[in-house]
Amino acid sequence: MAVSDHVDLNGFVEGVKKRNPGQPEFVQAVQEVAEDIFDFIQDKEAYHREQILRRIAEPDRVISFRVCWEDDAGNIRVQRGWRVQNNNSIGPYKGGIRFHPSVTEGTLKFLAFEQTFKNALTGLPMGGGKGGSNFNPKGKSDREVMRFCQSFMNELYRHIGADIDVPAGDIGVGAREIGYMFGQYKRLTNEFTGVLTGKGLEYGGSLIRTEATGYGATYFLLNMLKTKGEDLQGKVAVISGSGNVATHAAEKVTMLGGKVVTLSDSDGFVHDPAGMTQEKINWVKQLKNVRRGRISEYVDAFPGSSYHADKTPWGVPCDVALPCATQNELLGADARLLVANGCKAVSEGANMPTDLEGVHVFKDARILFAPGKAANAGGVAVSGLEMSQNSARISWKEEELQRLLIDIMDGIHARCMEYGQQGGGYCDYVKGANIAGFKKVADAMLAYGVV
Ligand code: NDP
Repeated sequence: MAVSDHVDLNGFVEGVKKRNPGQPEFVQAVQEVAEDIFDFIQDKEAYHREQILRRIAEPDRVISFRVCWEDDAGNIRVQRGWRVQNNNSIGPYKGGIRFHPSVTEGTLKFLAFEQTFKNALTGLPMGGGKGGSNFNPKGKSDREVMRFCQSFMNELYRHIGADIDVPAGDIGVGAREIGYMFGQYKRLTNEFTGVLTGKGLEYGGSLIRTEATGYGATYFLLNMLKTKGEDLQGKVAVISGSGNVATHAAEKVTMLGGKVVTLSDSDGFVHDPAGMTQEKINWVKQLKNVRRGRISEYVDAFPGSSYHADKTPWGVPCDVALPCATQNELLGADARLLVANGCKAVSEGANMPTDLEGVHVFKDARILFAPGKAANAGGVAVSGLEMSQNSARISWKEEELQRLLIDIMDGIHARCMEYGQQGGGYCDYVKGANIAGFKKVADAMLAYGVV
């Protein structure tokens, strides 16, 4: 049997580290997948012969470019932009754009790698990509954000297209930024196509795209609870973040009878023991999307709640937790605290919010734990449905889209169960998601030969 150069896991991970210096998040994401895949591919000769694991851990291409823009005071500012086109074996590259000062090439490589498996899990024909910039939209005027987005698109437009690569939003990129970028793409190409998703409803956007990631992560949580004969009724939920994913997860948990007691941002978290109502969640949406304020302001609006600066919410006792802010926001010690406090289920709304140590804590405790690539796939799934609607030049009704989102999340849950069942009623959802996502992409790669 012809075997790969990297037959043992440690050797493979060391190779990835060596080839990607200074990119620890990318190495972490590859290692997590490789840990689960290694056993699965051990006896499958074609994957070894064709070096599938080695090839899947190498992006198709990484585009890096300068983004110059002028601030309101007339100063010339210079940022770096990237698009990582990771793998288009099962469809056009698809994945969000992130604007945050912490963004590096390594961050985007990790996100594009994760996206490839996530998109495969949805069952829709989408490859994996991700892009972004170290631009910080916080504190910038609308005009500054517009000029930055236009300059970013002046380079990006050459590399994307409705059948090539279809970006969407992510941290720091919401409806406002998508509007500016789509406007510039249209101006540069004189084409009106479904080149971006998350668009406004007036210009080709899909109903429920905004809600889809947070709602989907909650549906996945409910599916896991159902395997134990439980639901969300009366369950106390701890949620991090206060952006798109966090607020919509809070909304759906509340709709399904749960009690959301925390939200956060990068400065701290708020604890509301009375639980958040739809009115309070609407107030947070307004705070973040319109006033662009900080979550600390919540305590002034809602007496009885408290603000905890420079802290994460994982020490608040809960039944379920949804990390919905950013990567590596829930560490090993946090995971131990959650388990010790009786948390029964964790559904990741963010991408890779739990570090590797934390993932192992949840797995060892055998609690219900859904990795982001499965739990937060509802967003990209509805983006896929936006692409279909744009191609067909139609708009589906909200009830139809709500039903499709639930169907897709049910399908992802079933795919994870298929490969993740460990006996004794325990499902390793991380393993299930990694194997199911990998298998689909890997089999397509086998069909293409060596390319
Ligand atoms: P938003 O920009 O709407 O919100 C991000 C939230 O996370 C904000 O509350 C932000 O606080 C907080 N946050 C960002 N960076 C940090 C940090 N370094 N430490 C602590 N908190 C931080 O982004 P989204 O809600 O869209 O995205 C959240 C997560 O969900 C990301 O991991 C994203 O990749 C993932 N995701 C998003 C999808 C989508 O459809 N939007 C789809 C699938 C995954 P602050 O205001 O202080 O920055």
